Amino acid sequence: MQDNTDREELHIVMFSGGASSSYVGKWVADKYNKENVVLFFTDTLWEDKDNYRFLEECADYIGLEITKVRDGRTPEEVFFENKFLGNARFAQCSEELKVKQTLIYIEEVRLQGYEPILYFGIGPKEKHRAESLKSHYEHFPLEPVECRFPMIESMSQEPKARAIIENEWGIELPRMYKKQFHHANCAGRCVRGGHHHYANLYRVWPQRYRAQEEMEENFRKKFNMDVSIMKKQGKPYTLKEHREKVLEEMTEEELFHYSQQRDEEEYIPCFCSFS
Ligand code: SF4
Repeated sequence: MQDNTDREELHIVMFSGGASSSYVGKWVADKYNKENVVLFFTDTLWEDKDNYRFLEECADYIGLEITKVRDGRTPEEVFFENKFLGNARFAQCSEELKVKQTLIYIEEVRLQGYEPILYFGIGPKEKHRAESLKSHYEHFPLEPVECRFPMIESMSQEPKARAIIENEWGIELPRMYKKQFHHANCAGRCVRGGHHHYANLYRVWPQRYRAQEEMEENFRKKFNMDVSIMKKQGKPYTLKEHREKVLEEMTEEELFHYSQQRDEEEYIPCFCSFS
């Protein structure tokens, strides 16, 4: 068996579509031989089209192709196949479309003789996430994988990634940033989002909210289960109820303020927000 010290390092940047991971991508590409740097993106097929544009423009600026992997299913297809509606407590879409795809890729590059090292765009304010990622990649691949967090470990100050990308790289940020989404994955439809997050989706893209509501209603009907993406006081609370009882009752101004509050209780950050 090959010892991992014999393997050539492969620097894999977890390129999520966010500003921080793009900034880290450039930092890694400048530091190492570009031939051994990968911009790795796991595609759920649910991302907002402008996130794809942003990813491509950042990759062009960095001077590398994006390595895209896809399971081929959307989160919705995963829910229906597994007969389990993803929610804030357990989102198997993240497990199957992101985490599993990453583990498969890690094992593939090892078989090709490389030692993978993963890089994340996580800043000092999110050190707890760095710890949980380290622990995850120590235990779940066949052999532990080293995780690096340049914005915590190697930079003297957290860079203003968004401003640098916009002003120095000349790349417009993903429109979801400007539309005040705190979690810009899966086009605002993330099942980890809570009451306020979904209020923002309703405010910004009501049709997309309706599509998510319809998916939830179809799921409930098809499997005859009283389940929902969100909860209220520990009980199922559907997007339909949320729209009819709360969101539609608000003025535009109230909706805006409500949508900008954080979902501390409901929102549990997942791998998707940095993978
Ligand atoms: S961002 Fe949310 S909906 Fe999308 S794959 Fe991750 S957990 Fe699932």
